[in-house]
Amino acid sequence: MATDTVEQNSEKQTPAKQPPAKQGMSTKSVHAGEDRQKPGDAIADPIFCSSTFTFRTTDDVIDYCEGRSDREEYGRYGNPNERSVERKLAALDCGEAAIVYGSGMAAIVGLLMAKLNAGDEIVFFDQCYHRSREFCSKHLARFGVVTRQVPTGDYDAMEAAINENTRMLVSESPTNPHLTCIDLEQFVALGKAHEVETLIDATLATPYNIQPLEFGVDYVLHSATKYLGGHNDLLAGVIVGSAEALDPVRNLRGIMGAVNSPHNMYLLERGLKTFELRMQRHNANGQAIAEFLESHPRVERVYYPGLKSHPTHEIATQTMRGFGGLVTFTIKDADMRQTANIVDAARIPRIAPSLGGVESLIEQPLVMSYYKCTPEQRASYGIADNMIRMSCGIENTEDLIADLDQALQA
Ligand SMILES: *Cc1c(COP(=O)(O)O)cnc(C)c1O
Repeated sequence: MATDTVEQNSEKQTPAKQPPAKQGMSTKSVHAGEDRQKPGDAIADPIFCSSTFTFRTTDDVIDYCEGRSDREEYGRYGNPNERSVERKLAALDCGEAAIVYGSGMAAIVGLLMAKLNAGDEIVFFDQCYHRSREFCSKHLARFGVVTRQVPTGDYDAMEAAINENTRMLVSESPTNPHLTCIDLEQFVALGKAHEVETLIDATLATPYNIQPLEFGVDYVLHSATKYLGGHNDLLAGVIVGSAEALDPVRNLRGIMGAVNSPHNMYLLERGLKTFELRMQRHNANGQAIAEFLESHPRVERVYYPGLKSHPTHEIATQTMRGFGGLVTFTIKDADMRQTANIVDAARIPRIAPSLGGVESLIEQPLVMSYYKCTPEQRASYGIADNMIRMSCGIENTEDLIADLDQALQA
């Protein structure tokens, strides 16, 4: 059995693991990255609970060290479950290589720490995941990396912030919680014109709705905790890009140790099998709920890229296949408490941070992620007291709408 396993991981089988890019998303998410014939003739990948991997002889060790065999060595550098998920995720984003981390934040930290040196600068759009902002402004700064924030979607301001020390342009698309979509053509053109690498955190879009590498973005990042895992039962992160550019990043991950257990990778692989089916329902629910909310008399404003009223609707329709399950809205003439009453009255969505799982979640950004901010900080991030963010799961659309309708009477 052990012999078979080693041979199945050997190089001669690698090409079969890379499906043609023209295959559909669901075909890739079911089959890509996996060996066709598995140990024990199992159809699902077995979970390889092993912290280290054995060599038959000293010559086998030497072959491995000299790059003549492709296999595992020690759990911090990778395991078979992680490899198969990495190949699958690379295929979904049409990238050459993927590196999986223990969380989305570990992926961001891992990439930036591997790519930046003291004296380097990065420029990022200011609507972003608050922990990414905190890592850049608080922690990268300690290592002498300068971070410059510019208003989201202001490409002139981004260009003006670039100088000879700039190494990376960073943005999310869509952003959270305002769902601003980035014009990837302009963003990539800025990077190319100034020879600066580009990174898109596409967690909210997923590879189903957007393909940043096709636009020429250098690195695409996802918190796999969200739609990729999709079941609110795991944390993981991934970076996809060219194998060469990711080589030093993989090396640092092996040192940082921000790796996943084989069990976690099994869960992610299993979650990915239904990725396209889930995304279709998330997209449909997001659109239907955004339209319902926009027509509701108690709702002041809805942020959803699939609505004509959204400031970046045009960009969204040009770059995305669907607009995801996240919907942000504000309540007319409501204070913090009146808004909380609506959140508390919802019976299907659960109150929790995070997004992208099969269970719908609802939260008031003021109390969830931004509670410790001053009112001035919240205002600068565009977080209003009467704002609600809903992550539409895969429940039936009419049930979610009926539930929101009753909650809005609170
Ligand atoms: C959740 C999230 C992250 C962080 O991912 P974790 O898996 O929670 O570490 C980063 N970026 C975006 C856009 C996110 O939504």
